Amino acid sequence: MTMPMPDDHPLGPPADERSWVRVATELAAGFAATTDEADRTARLPVENLRALHAGGLDQATLPRELGGQSLSYRTVGAVLRVLAAADPSTACLWLMHIGAAEGLVRHGTPELARYYADELIAGRRFANALSEPSGGNQFLSPQQVAEPVDGGYRLTGAKRFVSGCEIADHFLVNALVDGQPTLFGLEPDHTVTFEPQDTLGLRATRSHLVGLNGTVLRSDRRCPPSPVPKPNHIAAGLAWLSLGIADTALDTLVRYARGRTLPSTGRPLADEQHLQFDVADAVLRLEAAALVAHNSAWLADRDSPHFLPSALRAKPTANRVARDIAQLCLQVGGGSGFVATSPIQRIFRDAQTGWLMAHSVEFCLNHIGTEVVRAPGEQP
Ligand SMILES: Cc1cc2nc3c(=O)[nH]c(=O)nc-3n(C[C@H](O)[C@H](O)[C@H](O)COP(=O)(O)OP(=O)(O)OC[C@H]3O[C@@H](n4cnc5c(N)ncnc54)[C@H](O)[C@@H]3O)c2cc1C
Repeated sequence: MTMPMPDDHPLGPPADERSWVRVATELAAGFAATTDEADRTARLPVENLRALHAGGLDQATLPRELGGQSLSYRTVGAVLRVLAAADPSTACLWLMHIGAAEGLVRHGTPELARYYADELIAGRRFANALSEPSGGNQFLSPQQVAEPVDGGYRLTGAKRFVSGCEIADHFLVNALVDGQPTLFGLEPDHTVTFEPQDTLGLRATRSHLVGLNGTVLRSDRRCPPSPVPKPNHIAAGLAWLSLGIADTALDTLVRYARGRTLPSTGRPLADEQHLQFDVADAVLRLEAAALVAHNSAWLADRDSPHFLPSALRAKPTANRVARDIAQLCLQVGGGSGFVATSPIQRIFRDAQTGWLMAHSVEFCLNHIGTEVVRAPGEQP
């Protein structure tokens, strides 16, 4: 549908990792069969997550020294795009899973890193419990304070939209400790509760409100402060979720337009020139958004200081394209796409989520705009 990236393109997955994209592509073909049913019933696609683990993808994301393959951000991006095109909820759950595990492995002491790597290899599930109800975009600067108690810090509060929380064996949680944002690994006990939120899009992620009711964050699961921000899967990966949704929106609208004959002309809807112009515009924007994401992943693989600014560009660019192509898909589907049994309404709802997820499009635009218009040397 869009121009394929040549295999030897430097921004694409490295040659020795392309087999992982093939693994994901084969699995995704099976996942697509249950996407709409899992969305309708808001059921966690646990079997998909198990298949990704069994296929070796979870372990491959770990650093080599911990038994993984140090999979590049370029490859993880391509994998996420393929998964999101087939089942966006599965892709989101997998991203949060490997992202939380990466956080605990990377920020932990060597002993903790080994522990969490072994847990990921053994098939345990990870989730991010970072966003607070008072302001999800400030998830790196928590407001909730954990008070010192024997063996750790007690936290009473809540985390919002925690994808896959009900099956998580480990949470990556943050809280204010001595006035500093501090990360912990948390194994849920009876003090951790789940309150359904039933999000409008990505329903199968079951991104619930997690209550922490006097929960003790153990000192021996506390991550030491991180010296410098590094590329990470979630910052790098969110753009790719939207690209996958945009791929499916484009594919769906073109198939529908080819198959729908207009009674007034006796010709397929696809023959209408206004639609061809809209589709051409969608293709151009999707190809451009994909290149921005590929470039950002390439910067992440080089551990470049330009990665974070590039991720703040890649994400909103992809989020907007997904939302706009899903809107066009709904427009082309007309009334047939606006009924609960149509995959088009599900694609339309799923396409809204990337925009909201932190950092939201407005947050990114605010950041970029401020940087651009500020006078040289002027402080924010
Ligand atoms: C399907 C789904 C799955 C998710 N999964 C997870 C998960 O697994 N773990 C997790 O921790 N979180 C998860 N989230 C939460 C997500 O990452 C965001 O934190 C959350 O969606 C944002 O919450 P909010 O809208 O309440 O944020 P708010 O920050 O309150 O934003 C409200 C509004 O203010 C705007 N705004 C905020 N800050 C700025 C700014 N600086 N400049 C300009 N505008 C601004 C926003 O754009 C938005 O319009 C998920 C969310 C969704 C929708």
